[in-house]
Amino acid sequence: MHVHSFLGGHSSGTFSEIISAAKANELQFVIMTEHLEQDFDTASMTLHGEHAGVLFVNGNELSNENGDRTLELPGRIKPTPAGAAELQGSSQIDVPVTIVAYPEEFKEWQKVGLAGVEVFNVYTNARRIKPVVAFFDVLWSRRSYPELLFALYYERPNESLRLWDQATTRSRSTATAGNDAHSNIGVSLRDSSGKTLVGIQLDPYEVSFRLVRMHVLIEQNKTLNQENLLAAIRSGHCFIGFDFLSDPTGFSFAAESQGERKIQGDEITLDADTRLLIQTPVPSTIRLFKDGNVMLGETGASSRSVPVTERGVYRVEVYLPQLGNLAAEKPWIISNPIYVR
Ligand SMILES: [Zn+2]
Repeated sequence: MHVHSFLGGHSSGTFSEIISAAKANELQFVIMTEHLEQDFDTASMTLHGEHAGVLFVNGNELSNENGDRTLELPGRIKPTPAGAAELQGSSQIDVPVTIVAYPEEFKEWQKVGLAGVEVFNVYTNARRIKPVVAFFDVLWSRRSYPELLFALYYERPNESLRLWDQATTRSRSTATAGNDAHSNIGVSLRDSSGKTLVGIQLDPYEVSFRLVRMHVLIEQNKTLNQENLLAAIRSGHCFIGFDFLSDPTGFSFAAESQGERKIQGDEITLDADTRLLIQTPVPSTIRLFKDGNVMLGETGASSRSVPVTERGVYRVEVYLPQLGNLAAEKPWIISNPIYVR
């Protein structure tokens, strides 16, 4: 999710590179988010539909007058200033899924229709790298261990998570992670005239797609198409996996109450028997959050059943301490919330 091609500027990536990187990663879908252009329609020109067995959604990354940026899925086929007004009368299916991008810089949190927050962005994370220190790490390890390099510099996005936690206390909000893949993040050493002496590209699509992914939960009797995919994201039926640490497939966060079972993204009514059920594919450290605060942390577990006695917004982060210091305090999985009402 959150991929740019050559279409919106800032990137040199071609469709062929993106498709082959998706295939190399065995991805089932890629969500394109092209920047708008004045003279042509990037959403209708970018990858859309199925290519080489991968579903592509043609989204846009928008920038408002106040600098706020959002991802809009699908994108604006015909960008018009009246677009928002037109949408008001249309059905839910026609309204794009709007995700707050770069939440640390976002201002208009009260805006109607925000479906979620991009709590992690590979590009934002990469900007924190100290270039001189990174340069030698990159020289040494880039070819053999691009994931290890990312592990070294990847940090829990504390501030974005805090802002998203706040948003979830106002209304339901889906957390997403963005690869923000441009195929052009580089570390370079320049001489005093600004001439590049050595330039190294850090984010070819294939590496970027391996680092962090959206894992989406779609009912088994439904097919994976754009409508079902976007409905699942809007509903929070999805979680963030830092797949470069380990495959998080099999992670589950659910709630049960009065014989009813709900999954992440859903609301459930508090009752005497309400429980949260957490399962991870390997033993891990499970942290359960309520309204943004850790209420339980347990190491070495792969399943957990927690009785709930208070209403609130509950979500889970999972860590892999067995990977050592490099992965400590860096989440492997970030779930979406269950809203106990
Ligand atoms: Zn972007």
